[in-house]
Amino acid sequence: MLINGQWIQTTQTFAVTNPATGEVLESVADGSASDATAAIDAAHNAMPAWSGTTAHERSAILYRAWQLMLDAKESLALLMTQEQGKPLKAARTEVQYGADFLLWFAEEAKRLYGETIPSARKDQRFMVQHQPVGVVAAITPWNYPVSMITRKLAPALAAGCTVVLKPAEATPLCAMAIVKILVQAGVPDGVVNVVTTSNPAPVGEIFCTDKRVRKLTFTGSTPVGKKLATAAAPQLKRVSMELGGHAPFIVFADADPVHAAKGAALIKFLNTGQACICPNRIYVHETILQPFLDTLKTRVSKLAVGNGQHDGIAIGPLVNQQAIDKVSAQVTDAKNKGATVLTGGTTLSEGDYGHGHFYAPTVLADVTPDMLIYREETFGPVAAVISFNDDDDIIALANDTDYGLAAYIYTQNISTAMRTFEALRFGIIGINDINPTSAAAPFGGMKESGLGREGAREGIAEYLETKLGGLSI
Ligand code: NAD
Repeated sequence: MLINGQWIQTTQTFAVTNPATGEVLESVADGSASDATAAIDAAHNAMPAWSGTTAHERSAILYRAWQLMLDAKESLALLMTQEQGKPLKAARTEVQYGADFLLWFAEEAKRLYGETIPSARKDQRFMVQHQPVGVVAAITPWNYPVSMITRKLAPALAAGCTVVLKPAEATPLCAMAIVKILVQAGVPDGVVNVVTTSNPAPVGEIFCTDKRVRKLTFTGSTPVGKKLATAAAPQLKRVSMELGGHAPFIVFADADPVHAAKGAALIKFLNTGQACICPNRIYVHETILQPFLDTLKTRVSKLAVGNGQHDGIAIGPLVNQQAIDKVSAQVTDAKNKGATVLTGGTTLSEGDYGHGHFYAPTVLADVTPDMLIYREETFGPVAAVISFNDDDDIIALANDTDYGLAAYIYTQNISTAMRTFEALRFGIIGINDINPTSAAAPFGGMKESGLGREGAREGIAEYLETKLGGLSI
């Protein structure tokens, strides 16, 4: 752990394992509630000096961190593959995406403009300034163990906030590697602190109840996000919540079914299906269902599954046995209720697969609303395809979920695209596009997918207070 500039090891540790091989990579400090309090002490004490630096000074540090992260791209990618499981190529892409936030917010730091507002009173002048919100507590998930951290830390630091980070228990090594880069770039003692733990609830409770924490930023599942937002409510702490999703992927009759199926195969199996923006319900118009399914099945059945360190691997392991159990339960439930398995549908456990957590990339056809997979986030490599025949109904079907993170539309008709884009209650919508994400673009969900946005101009506003001055002259 890093508290007040000191790297701390505890007698109590927990093991970090490679999900592809079961091998123990390292043992890390198992922090407690009192470590969380010590980290908040440090962040609180560091706040006056850090918030007193100029935006140009903070920008220079973030810019250096961006350069250092790109210099370390290969070693960070390898560490990510070993700790989290995604194939090396995808890990390199994530390091780049993670570094993009450092550069973006190095630039945004210098654009924290205020404004002056005309008053109705002749003798009065209004001025508006933005100031850092205070100490930030950040909790991050394992699925994107680098970029989910820089997406929070870069804007917080750019705004002049100090931070206490609690990374996911599956991926503390990536978190520590990033924080080492920030320290090397010149982040002063106490400005960024990290508490690693195998038992997140007591640390989360301190984050929610210590009055000195003024902002809680969380990425993870909707149930945990709700718990934390509830616990933070009595002190009216600012919260940002980047939570789960259940993305619809709508392929209208006029779309090219082969192009759409290629897109679905790429985005559904991204990170072995363990991404919050993965499609969970693929709606295909019945007139083009067969060519869509043929292409999807062909492509998915060719995806090579294995240890992401090996050449040619497209699909890595799932994070742990619970993830395998959840995927298996959804597939069994769907089969029992009439779904057809076009490819996959089984756990992979023979040979080398037996040491890790592998599930065969799966395509299910004939999926219906009574199946678990139609409602629950899968977070695994299963594409669930549903046919539809009425364009007027499809918006209501797609919106019929408590989630509202990502959605995808495939059509060649600009009016259909625009009407659907405007009617869908989702925060991120790809139109004939499966990658609507960038450090420059606002990321976040509606409804139970969260509160607030990360990246873009909005990303830094989450860490700022607006202060009004009224001056009589
Ligand atoms: P999770 O909610 O189990 O864990 C997320 C983080 O919360 C981890 O650091 C974990 O240690 C911590 N945590 C768990 N229980 C806690 C508690 N009681 N108090 C404090 N902290 C606690 O989620 P996960 O399995 O790590 O991540 C997968 C989920 O994250 C999926 O639902 C996915 O959709 C979502 N996600 C969302 C986004 C987004 O930007 N919207 C991005 C990535 C992942």
